[in-house]
Amino acid sequence: MRTLIQGGTVVTAEGSYPADVLIDGETIAAVGRDLAALGAVDTTIDASGKYVIPGAIDVHTHMELPFGGTFAKDTFETGTRAAAWGGTTTILDFAVQSRGRSLREGLDAWHAKAEGNCAIDYGFHMIMSDVNDATLAEMDGLVADGVTTFKLFTAYPGVFLSDDGAIFRAMQQTAKNGGLIMMHAENGLAIDVVAAQTFAEGKTDPYYHGVVRYPIFEGEATNRAIRLAEAAEVPVYIVHLSAREALNEVRAARDRGAAAFAETCPQYLFLTLDDMGNGFEGAKFVCSPPLRPPDHAVELWKGLAKDDLQVVSTDHCPFDFEGQKELGRGDFRKIPNGLPGVENRVDLLHDGGVVAGRITANRWVEIISTAPARMFGLYPRKGAVAVGSDADLVVYDPKAKHTISASTHHMNVDYSCYEGREVQGWSTVVLSRGKTVIENGAYVGQKGDGRFLRREPSQEYLKAT
Ligand SMILES: [Zn+2]
Repeated sequence: MRTLIQGGTVVTAEGSYPADVLIDGETIAAVGRDLAALGAVDTTIDASGKYVIPGAIDVHTHMELPFGGTFAKDTFETGTRAAAWGGTTTILDFAVQSRGRSLREGLDAWHAKAEGNCAIDYGFHMIMSDVNDATLAEMDGLVADGVTTFKLFTAYPGVFLSDDGAIFRAMQQTAKNGGLIMMHAENGLAIDVVAAQTFAEGKTDPYYHGVVRYPIFEGEATNRAIRLAEAAEVPVYIVHLSAREALNEVRAARDRGAAAFAETCPQYLFLTLDDMGNGFEGAKFVCSPPLRPPDHAVELWKGLAKDDLQVVSTDHCPFDFEGQKELGRGDFRKIPNGLPGVENRVDLLHDGGVVAGRITANRWVEIISTAPARMFGLYPRKGAVAVGSDADLVVYDPKAKHTISASTHHMNVDYSCYEGREVQGWSTVVLSRGKTVIENGAYVGQKGDGRFLRREPSQEYLKAT
């Protein structure tokens, strides 16, 4: 099966140029001018007036995540389909180790949820709930099996929180096996003190979820995680960075030559603490770290432009407003944490980044696809428009406008954080390993098209960056 994407502008992290892209089977066979001359093809896709970009990679999703007595609403089937609609052709989801069980058991459970159900390719990170001799030893086997990244938390005491010794031991293990530690960096113990005091004052609305998780608690934990990684002489990746205080720690670390990396998410760029203020409606915006006052987003955009932040992921973790977010009526501490977003990231970043003049189209591609591929051991198989790379490609119309709404989105959740927001930019055709899965707004793929991605360790690359 040969497909020719004809007449578009190839936009990569390095540059933009007019070129056709020829696909043979699952991979890119040629990139250049006038490729129709190379012979007959089975399908031709007209990309005139449009960009041809590498499929986007979302390195932070939580399909079917158990949280607070309920489950994130999107399954691997519905969530990966929604991702494809939004131009994302790879997700990395977080498998969870249950306390007292093995890592492998948690990983197997996530494989069982995903296998045969995904619309696009997928890989896993491993959330470690216990750090002990047995789980440390298990990490090496996971790295060998392509699960090369491990998430630890300084938040959620009693659930996911690891103490400093545990974090340091896990980091030391990655120095040996080439893995990478990803940190949820908020001081959960201090947050719980303020949360209890605030609740006792009768302040129970969702808004207070945003108030009690101080930016300085994120800054402190970010610094601590980076300092521990420096001591262990390994890179570290801070997930969902939201606060100026945390960004400043990453900046300072990078300035002194530390291998510190961080992602932010669309919610921290486009939404603010004010969105949490409308009574219990604010529950729609409850996530951790929380939304911040507007001046933080200004700094995050600067961080993205200057590469102090390298990636934008979604932390997609959708809960219905009705029946799920409502579990926290009367107590903001009981609202399930998480927002939907896997479908909206590419367009939001194009509209608010490229169209708004904050970043170039090339930087946009880097943030949504190429940098994630490099950092998470998928490059150049993913994240590139290059001969031999997987033909994960998006024909992107940079002029088309559409309005984000729960009534038209494909995520399995009953509200949108961006309801009514008009964005410019739209994925018109999406190919996953050479197969068209989205065509002019219609899903034409099949459940099970997506395959598990065995990733390479990326520590050496990160140390040298
Ligand atoms: Zn998350």
